[in-house]
Amino acid sequence: MTAYLVGAGPGDLGLMTARALELVACADVILYDKLIPDGALGGARADAELVDVGKVGGGAQVAQESTNELLLRHARAGREVVRLKGGDPFVFGRGGEEAQLLRAAGLDFEVVPGVTAGVAAPAYAGIPVTQRGIAAAVAFITGHEDPAKPETLIDWPALAAFPGTLVFYMGVRSLDRIATQLVAGGRPDSEPVAVVQRGTFADQRTVSGTLGDIAARAAEAGVRAPAITVVGPVAALHDELAWFGAGPLAGRTVAVTRARAQASALAGRLRALGASVVEAPAIRIESLDATLPDLAGFDLLCVTSPNGARRLLEICRDARDLRGPAIAAIGPGTADALCAGGIEADIVPPRAVAESLVETLADRPVKRVLIARAEQARDVLPDALRARGAEVEILPLYRTVAEPLSDDARAAALGADYVTFTSASAVRFFVEAAGRPEGPELVSIGPITSDALREHGLQPDVEAADHTPDGLVAALLAAAAG
Ligand code: SAH
Repeated sequence: MTAYLVGAGPGDLGLMTARALELVACADVILYDKLIPDGALGGARADAELVDVGKVGGGAQVAQESTNELLLRHARAGREVVRLKGGDPFVFGRGGEEAQLLRAAGLDFEVVPGVTAGVAAPAYAGIPVTQRGIAAAVAFITGHEDPAKPETLIDWPALAAFPGTLVFYMGVRSLDRIATQLVAGGRPDSEPVAVVQRGTFADQRTVSGTLGDIAARAAEAGVRAPAITVVGPVAALHDELAWFGAGPLAGRTVAVTRARAQASALAGRLRALGASVVEAPAIRIESLDATLPDLAGFDLLCVTSPNGARRLLEICRDARDLRGPAIAAIGPGTADALCAGGIEADIVPPRAVAESLVETLADRPVKRVLIARAEQARDVLPDALRARGAEVEILPLYRTVAEPLSDDARAAALGADYVTFTSASAVRFFVEAAGRPEGPELVSIGPITSDALREHGLQPDVEAADHTPDGLVAALLAAAAG
């Protein structure tokens, strides 16, 4: 399989399908449109070829012929080529034509449907396109057709008579004509209409009215493409069901710099609070080969990060390999990661930093300690234990390496309202990849990460009191409120 016609959804990165993300991550070449979510290409391989074939509302655009030509050339060369389109590729996306072209050339393809704007933008405005007792059918219509043209494909009288919701794509510039034709065809002047601009993006907005006044209202509000126009009684449900943009972080953009494998839980929590999230992973975790020593001779095993905990569990053949020493986790995240493998930590300090663990261990006699951690880490814990006369061995389990940032992710992160850092290495690699962020407020998970910011000439604007992702979210919420 070499060609994929992939829908990227309407704009909210969270609405990209799992299959779309997977294909973006594997592609050799991505031919993408303008209307794809911010950060949609963030997961692309660093060596992937990214080609913008977008069409900007009437402005400069790559001709469909050149897009076709590119698609065929790369597919023929046997490269994994992803044709990434806004919304769904087969709904006003010319995906059907591209599929015909590939079929005619004898090339295999896969179609990955996407969440289409005609359903998603209304949904994010609190408008169900069908509703029991109100609308039992829905029609998707292109507003591009000029109703005055005799050769128009749209049968306006039939549409006016359609027993259900009408959803117009690409219709903002023809609102006046659409409304006039529908009223001429018998729809009441008072029929509710809603225009949803940039649906599912953080700056989504909705203008409501009726067939009689929507053109004037939209013009007054300065509504521009991309927008979806919904005509029918369901449009009035916006007043009752609007929900998007209601969270405490609504309208704010937050960049997450932690490793992709761990970013999604934090990103999900931020999105649930209304934030628009930019995933800009600056680091990646690389496992190291390691053998667990016989723990019989140790009286303490310290695990100093959730990554360390996961890798430790991987290198155990059996949970009983960890029998013997008391187990200390540096914080609740690490304790949770151990718990996932059926290991309950004996010691968890009140604050998730090495200094706090040292304090917690102060009264505990320790002779021989194994510290399971990253290859490079601060030496606060081993130094303190050695100073107390303990014999300390380090078990390096993983290393943190730079993850190249796409131009897209870099620009989006630097333009965000907040950039979040959950480790000192994320700070270092982010600054190396993106430079020093100047506009955004910088949010740090704790004192060590804050120190790393200062070492790079940056000031943390917000520091979490509780040094966990939850604590970071709480601090961000307080900052956004204040
Ligand atoms: N294949 C796309 C549609 C492409 S046609 C899909 O399935 O969604 C482009 C039109 O889609 C725009 O003119 C606009 O009417 C609509 N559109 C795309 N994204 C949108 C968004 N985020 N909010 C509102 N309308 C959108």
